[in-house]
Amino acid sequence: MIELEDVSKRFDDKAVLAGVTGRIERGEIFAVIGPSGAGKSTLLRLVDLLDTPTEGAIRIDGTDVHADKGQSLSIRRMMGMVFQKPAVFNSTVAENIAVGLRFRGADERAIREKVEDALEIVGLAGYGERRARTLSGGEMQRVALARAMVIEPEILLMDEPTANLDPVSVEKIEELVFCINRDLGTTILFSTHDMYQGQRLAHRIGVLMNGVFAQVGTPREVFTLPASRDVARFVGIENVIEGVVVAGEDGTVTVDAGGVRVRAKSPFPRGERVSLCIRSEDIRIAPAIRARRVFDGNILPGTVTSVVPRGPFSRVTVDCGLPLSSVLSWKAVEDLDIREGGRVEVSFAAESVHAVRAAQD
Ligand code: ADP
Ligand code: MG
Repeated sequence: MIELEDVSKRFDDKAVLAGVTGRIERGEIFAVIGPSGAGKSTLLRLVDLLDTPTEGAIRIDGTDVHADKGQSLSIRRMMGMVFQKPAVFNSTVAENIAVGLRFRGADERAIREKVEDALEIVGLAGYGERRARTLSGGEMQRVALARAMVIEPEILLMDEPTANLDPVSVEKIEELVFCINRDLGTTILFSTHDMYQGQRLAHRIGVLMNGVFAQVGTPREVFTLPASRDVARFVGIENVIEGVVVAGEDGTVTVDAGGVRVRAKSPFPRGERVSLCIRSEDIRIAPAIRARRVFDGNILPGTVTSVVPRGPFSRVTVDCGLPLSSVLSWKAVEDLDIREGGRVEVSFAAESVHAVRAAQD
């Protein structure tokens, strides 16, 4: 449905997008995630024809939308856009939603019916005559969504649609997005800096970093098998360790990480410099006195260096010759008598260690 081919965008001397390539399938929810300033808004503006790429092509339904100007109006009409800041015109809610329909020359009765339906769908039935400016941020964003949807677009573009909203409004918008895709089959391309929103909503995710998609994959792939150290960091993998493969067979290798040996799943040959990514949830911490077990993984003795509260959990960091952190419930911390300076044993399976080629720097 949407093809991005080597899309670049520079502002003056600054390259913001440097060859973004990917495709968004019909009926798919595709999230562009990436840190602030990565170029997410820029990319969406290019797709929405609000700006033109410096190089590369964007094809929608096979049409190169920036080359074929004759088609641009009809392409533009296939798309609805919702922006990051809830924005409404100073008129009634109904008028705000009707804008796109008026633009298309729909008659008054059809407009009234469609606006009513849209209000119903976004959970604002009866709000039609209210002044739009008097609504809360979450309500305004739902009006913006209704305005985008009332023209029955084939593609819905949303640039960080929930960035400025409270959690309850976020949940409502997410539910709406989910229903729009499921019930209407609308192709949805949205951006977010919230990786968990990407995970909740998207069929596939593109991680925008340094001007390109550092990775495109299902949420599961991106979150458990990040393609690089940067992606691993962005998706919240707390343990990223540098090392060199020193021995290996059958995809399970031994990595020397500054003198500490770590067993890892890795396709890389001996001598390769790698970054090892280990989710804190996959790391267990036990008192050091535990009896030796037969375990074809990693058991590293160490000293607790910090115990820091994090929501209902504690983040426990252990110096095993390299720092490793895990998350434990408060109760587990108490029961296991884990405290700073205490000796513990850190264990994790080789399968929990995802190796990526180290950054070339
Ligand atoms: P994101 O949405 O991922 O936070 P943006 O696409 O808004 O990132 O911006 C990416 C970079 O491009 C930023 O450094 C921003 O300052 C720059 N930028 C965006 N729009 C313009 C513009 N019209 N002129 C100059 N620089 C811009
Ligand atoms: Mg942005």
